[in-house]
Amino acid sequence: MRWWGWGDFAHAPALGARELAFLADTVGLAPAPRPPVALGRVRLPSSALPAPVLDRLRAIVGADGVRDDHAERVAHAAGKGYPDLVRMRAGEPQGAPDAVVRPTGHDQVRAVLELCGQASLAVVPFGGGTSVVGGVAPLRGEHGGAIALDMGAMGAVLALDRRSHTVKVQAGMRAAALERHLAARGLTLGHFPQSFEYVSLGGCAATRSAGQASTGYGAIDKMVLGLRVAAPADDIELAAVPASAAGPSLRQLLVGSEGTLGVISELHLRVRRAPAQQVYEGIFFAAFAAGAEWLRELAGQHALPDVARLSDEPETAMSLALAGAGGVKGRLGRAYVNARGYRGGCLAIVGVEGTPEDVAFRRERALSLARRFGGLPVGRSPGEAWLRARYSAPYLRDELLTRGVMVETLETAAQWSGLHELHREVATAIGQALDACGTPGLVMCHLSHVYESGASLYFTFLARQREGDEIGQWRAVKDAASEAILANGATITHHHAVGVDHARFMEREVGTGGLAALRALKAQLDPAGIMNPGKLLG
Ligand SMILES: Cc1cc2nc3c(=O)[nH]c(=O)nc-3n(C[C@H](O)[C@H](O)[C@H](O)COP(=O)(O)OP(=O)(O)OC[C@H]3O[C@@H](n4cnc5c(N)ncnc54)[C@H](O)[C@@H]3O)c2cc1C
Repeated sequence: MRWWGWGDFAHAPALGARELAFLADTVGLAPAPRPPVALGRVRLPSSALPAPVLDRLRAIVGADGVRDDHAERVAHAAGKGYPDLVRMRAGEPQGAPDAVVRPTGHDQVRAVLELCGQASLAVVPFGGGTSVVGGVAPLRGEHGGAIALDMGAMGAVLALDRRSHTVKVQAGMRAAALERHLAARGLTLGHFPQSFEYVSLGGCAATRSAGQASTGYGAIDKMVLGLRVAAPADDIELAAVPASAAGPSLRQLLVGSEGTLGVISELHLRVRRAPAQQVYEGIFFAAFAAGAEWLRELAGQHALPDVARLSDEPETAMSLALAGAGGVKGRLGRAYVNARGYRGGCLAIVGVEGTPEDVAFRRERALSLARRFGGLPVGRSPGEAWLRARYSAPYLRDELLTRGVMVETLETAAQWSGLHELHREVATAIGQALDACGTPGLVMCHLSHVYESGASLYFTFLARQREGDEIGQWRAVKDAASEAILANGATITHHHAVGVDHARFMEREVGTGGLAALRALKAQLDPAGIMNPGKLLG
């Protein structure tokens, strides 16, 4: 993973002359490319761990399981949010862990936590490191140092129960590795966040992640049936059961705990039969409201596709303009759509997976209902292009940053009854905040993760970076968007989690009593406060 950005170092650039010209016209580009600094120029504070503590850590996880060299500390200094990348590219992360520790199993995790409690070291669980909300920031809290507890060596499948459709894994296992393991056996987990290629399953559970097919497969909270957690105070082990009425759900308190209560070491997950067929296609709507009404009606009829994603007008226009850079391959589609009078409309991507009979039935129902809302089916090419490019967009972000373009996303969810106001007001807040920064930009949104009662809105915005004050610019926009979200009674996050960025909004999200209850739970499980300080609960 590029320490300053996303994914594979060898990934080919996607922005060609056409896309750059579009960006220069719409948001503006830096006069000259601004590449990241060389690794050796990244400035870190020196490691604060005394040699005897390092020796004791090595005694627990082995000499190879403890690293405190510059490259490892840089690789664990931040997640992949916009401010993380801005700082990393400039070679100035906000600190780094004093050491990176890689346990291989639950007992080693427990022993590391005990040692860190005695030595007053903060522990930052680190799965894939893809947090976009500051979840893996190496904050120390009251403690003298911090370690990144990298779960990468805990990647085994422990058991597969084909009869019950469950799998038990170590929590550091990558989602992509599990999907490969399951595919070879005709099964799938069905969890495909855009960060799929790098996320760990423990990280997904700890953040209540939602994959792109969550409308059909559910988010991770629906998949976790049981789990094992090492908390500083004690272990918690919850057996895999399909459902339970034994009091409030402790499972659901641990799912989403973001490493602040303990370390998820093992997970029991529900799996499904792999679909025999997948059909992904595009439908154009004259306006966002018409497409949203179609999805609301499908949800009401319990007839939703597995993937349902409706771009608003600006996002559709952008996808078509950047077709060659991982967007919708749409020259033919665009001409057709324009000719049919849908110029300036909204594209929905619809994916249905299952047996051929099931797919045929569900597709037909979705398409015929779409026609009732004025939808124009535009065939499989946009859907298949989206499927092929679904993990490429993060690479584009790196290229945009090199060109001096800020690109950031934020997400929320609300009931249908307030969704349009929310869309309008958050987009307006972002646009006005960008204007106030003197960097007018593009604000786009899509509706996805559809439920009977509402849906998630996912905003993307692009603007010229305010050079020298990139973080101030970002914070101004983030604050404006967050205020608009909360003022509309929506959640501060549908799936990116809380981390550092949303922690100050938690009291408004769950109330004073709710926050106090969560803090009391933390005090019980983590009395010395060593677990991931500064995240979730502030
Ligand atoms: C380009 C991009 C696209 C993304 N797309 C999506 C998306 O489609 N859907 C979505 O939901 N999210 C998405 N995300 C956000 C991110 O990928 C998710 O939050 C993901 O679940 C994090 O998994 P991870 O293994 O990388 O966790 P990390 O980033 O390593 O950790 C996340 C948090 O969980 C804690 N943690 C990690 N492992 C454990 C453990 N075993 N026990 C206890 N705590 C732990 C960490 O301390 C941290 O607080 C995206 C991020 C990027 C950069």
